[in-house]
Amino acid sequence: MDLLSIIGLATKRRGDYFTQALALLKKVKSQPELEERMTQEAKILVKGLRDKQMRWDEYERSMIDKTLTSALSAVALGAGDNNPKGKMERAWATIVGEMLPPLHDFLTETKTSLDDGNIRLGDKTEDFAEVTSWPGLLVRVIRYIANPSHSFFSLGEYYVKQDQGYREMARIPRIDAKTCPDCVMFGRMGWQPMGTLPMPGQQCQCFDRCRCRIDYR
Ligand SMILES: [Zn+2]
Ligand SMILES: [Zn+2]
Repeated sequence: MDLLSIIGLATKRRGDYFTQALALLKKVKSQPELEERMTQEAKILVKGLRDKQMRWDEYERSMIDKTLTSALSAVALGAGDNNPKGKMERAWATIVGEMLPPLHDFLTETKTSLDDGNIRLGDKTEDFAEVTSWPGLLVRVIRYIANPSHSFFSLGEYYVKQDQGYREMARIPRIDAKTCPDCVMFGRMGWQPMGTLPMPGQQCQCFDRCRCRIDYR
């Protein structure tokens, strides 16, 4: 599917994604729970494609559905009791803009790997080179449907703080061996006016794996 068709599909099914996201919130109560659940769903999805229980077009549609639903649920979790539905509405354009173009590239790449025989339907070998294996594919699927929930949770929280009149924000990196220089730099900037610091995973090399926290005052 080309990018415009993907965006067209997402726009048409917007209401369904909101309904699915709200249903998901009855099953998960926190962002780590959401991330864990979506990681499990990624395994089922990749296994379904590998074992031919799912056709390519079903897989593609599920990837789009789960990426959008997961991001919307994460925003709502970040919003808590503070009008989660309204916060999802507010985040929709950001979610579409941030997630669908890279997702389109990733789906195209996956399809090419399948067509070229670099990953083969029904193949259960686990020791191929990472980018051309089913385990390698799973790692990347998780990066679309599970990991971004941290960033979108932070966005939901940000909307609440903005509504509550907070004036400054600080991005606090979790300092460990994986923390990238960008996150360290944002951390050193300390308190900044609301809206001037990027959300976790934005403008840093950690991307979806960024676990920076945002504080407000
Ligand atoms: Zn980083
Ligand atoms: Zn970070």
